[in-house]
Amino acid sequence: MFDWKQDPHRRWNALTAEWVLVSPHRTQRPWLGQVEPPAAAVQPEYDPECYLCPGNARAGGVRNPDYASTFVFDNDFAALRPATPVDRFDRGGLLIAESEPGLCRVLCFSPRHNLTIANMAPADLRTVVDAWVEQFVEIGAHPAIDYVQIFENRGAMMGASNPHPHCQIWSNRTLPNEILKEQASQAAWRGRRGNCLLCEYADIERSERSRLVEENQDFLAVVPFWAVWPFETMVVSRRHLSGIDRLSDAERNGLADILKRVTARYDRLFGVSFPYTMGFHQRPTDGQDHPEWHLHAHFYPPLLRSATVRKFMVGYEMLATPQRDITPEAAAERLRAL
Ligand SMILES: [Zn+2]
Ligand SMILES: [Zn+2]
Ligand SMILES: [Zn+2]
Repeated sequence: MFDWKQDPHRRWNALTAEWVLVSPHRTQRPWLGQVEPPAAAVQPEYDPECYLCPGNARAGGVRNPDYASTFVFDNDFAALRPATPVDRFDRGGLLIAESEPGLCRVLCFSPRHNLTIANMAPADLRTVVDAWVEQFVEIGAHPAIDYVQIFENRGAMMGASNPHPHCQIWSNRTLPNEILKEQASQAAWRGRRGNCLLCEYADIERSERSRLVEENQDFLAVVPFWAVWPFETMVVSRRHLSGIDRLSDAERNGLADILKRVTARYDRLFGVSFPYTMGFHQRPTDGQDHPEWHLHAHFYPPLLRSATVRKFMVGYEMLATPQRDITPEAAAERLRAL
């Protein structure tokens, strides 16, 4: 008799149309459960060396204003530049390259250097949500920009060069790879069933509850059925909406609330300011309506079984298929219990 809690199996990611290998029996390896609390690095409220703190100079000599809430600026070392001329290279249909105009911005969540989403006051976090909406609308309105990717890298383990609470907003002319995959799946689902993939998925999660981590009036947070990272979560709006700009006033507060709850649970899991990459997925800004898109956010945290032991995506995962040990249901249970 097959045991879904113990026996190796693979799960289908309905959003990206990819498989993930789940090997729960491997969690019986003897090292499981070792939790090593690290020395928490205490950060000051203001760091004179930080290029994001108010009043400080950034690389290139620009000085930040003495900002009191959120603060946005064009990235000093942008990966994409707006004035990039359009060009294309094609050699035998094999060597293909395209110029890529775009815009990269940095959004500081707060003047306070040592704050995190988990520790922000709800009203201040709501201000951050408002800034995300503003940026999405403003940048998305640019005719040369078809996608606006808002993302936060939190913690040195994720390569975040600065602990100051901030996110990045990269926007470009074409759809990024992950967006292309998710768009294809959502459009195909809508074509086949006349319904929204993530609306149906959220209904299943709300009735099954085994992967549910948090829920409020407007959002739910789950460890997705197809999660790759050990404590990966997905935050999904309960109402069908294609982008962050369609959130009602109450839903903006709901988003701030669920993000705070999820990140606070993360921090409690291993007793450390939890590292992650977080970002929103929503409709492209190509002027189409995109009814197939359902707003959601992904949290991809690297930690596996303690504050100092991370998961690596190497070997079989680089060459074949991503793999996880702890089941998404067991991960959700642990996050719920905190
Ligand atoms: Zn700072
Ligand atoms: Zn939907
Ligand atoms: Zn997504």
